[in-house]
Amino acid sequence: MNSFEFHCPTKIVCGKNALRKLPQILEESNVTKPLLVTDANLLALGVCEHAIAPLEENGIAFAQFSDVPPDSSLDVVNRVANLYKEAGCDGFIALGGGSVIDTTKGAAASIAMDGKEFEKLQGAEIITCDLDPIIAVPTTAGTGSEVTLVAVVKDQEAHAKLSFTSYKLVPHVAVIDPQLTTSLPARLTATTGIDALTHAVEAYTSVQKNPVSDAFAHEAIRLISQNLIECCQNGKNADARCELALGSLMAGASFSNAMVGIVHALGHSLGGLCGIPHGQAMMLLLPHCVRWNLDHGYHTGLYGQLLGDLRPDKASRGLTPRQADEAFCSELFAQNEFLNRSFGVPITLKELGVTTDQLADVARQARYDGSALYNCQEFSLEEAQEILEAAF
Ligand code: NAD
Repeated sequence: MNSFEFHCPTKIVCGKNALRKLPQILEESNVTKPLLVTDANLLALGVCEHAIAPLEENGIAFAQFSDVPPDSSLDVVNRVANLYKEAGCDGFIALGGGSVIDTTKGAAASIAMDGKEFEKLQGAEIITCDLDPIIAVPTTAGTGSEVTLVAVVKDQEAHAKLSFTSYKLVPHVAVIDPQLTTSLPARLTATTGIDALTHAVEAYTSVQKNPVSDAFAHEAIRLISQNLIECCQNGKNADARCELALGSLMAGASFSNAMVGIVHALGHSLGGLCGIPHGQAMMLLLPHCVRWNLDHGYHTGLYGQLLGDLRPDKASRGLTPRQADEAFCSELFAQNEFLNRSFGVPITLKELGVTTDQLADVARQARYDGSALYNCQEFSLEEAQEILEAAF
């Protein structure tokens, strides 16, 4: 008999122009003066207007922080928390990719924990107080942070990505509005989309998987695979953007419960030590890590069970579980080759300027990343380095 818990309390508001409901969502959340957290790029592109217009039209006072950088850091979390207190806000609108949403989670947690510095709250379930309402509005379809209990923030001095996990970090509302992702360029659409795919694949093979996280993972992979290329080729297709965003959300719900594995352990380390953007790291590592898991005894047929979601045309009833596992892994490599050929997305560490003398440090830091605990196979320092060499 299965014994498990599945947690996904976020209210999901999805659809074309869903953000027009922002005033109503704020009222339902008892927020009278939100802090809108976003990044400078989204402000310049006019994406933030989709949130600002309904606020202004309804006379809702708000403060704004627009300086969250990609793969944000602890000092930015502190700046957001300070502005929130100075401006007398009582809730957050996090409009952006994972960097904006995670920074907002960090600021909200620090405030809830009596101004304790966010870095002191690192680890699992250290955050014990309820956070002020967070309305998460993702503008990438990748991290799933709008429904997860995770925040990942960089410690710039230690050159490390720090992970924070707590049920308290799960946003209260997620608004999925396809018009917010239509401006995402093809390369970022590809890398963030593969981040979402990685969440689902790692959740499905995690040591903490359960039947509900499995169901979310299957549907996430189906939605991502059916819509990713279309979104890269025709970014304005709102239907495809919406489906991809839902795939990302479902992958987030899956991994928020099952957790992720070796791809994330190595990817966080590449982000912290070499500055590789998270989605890019996921993309180039995923096939190599699946290959490594298969080569080290993980021929369970679980990867093969995902083949029909990833490539329905390649899934044949005649395949043995072992053949299906192998086919799944080959399709991941083929997908990377295609994205590289079609949109110029780098698929090796070398192309991204990583040098061979950095690999040992990356491997060492990855061994201590929390995600390593949930991988289906234990891995040694030498084995982590082998994978990095294969991805070089
Ligand atoms: P991001 O938020 O760092 O954004 C990357 C770039 O994309 C930025 O320059 C941003 O301005 C731009 N961008 C975002 N939306 C855009 C749009 N609609 N149009 C044009 N440009 C747009 O990217 P991300 O991949 O969403 O987030 C990465 C961060 O999230 C990392 O720090 C990673 O570790 C973290 N993460 C968190 C979770 C979680 O559950 N909390 C899960 C995975 C990753």
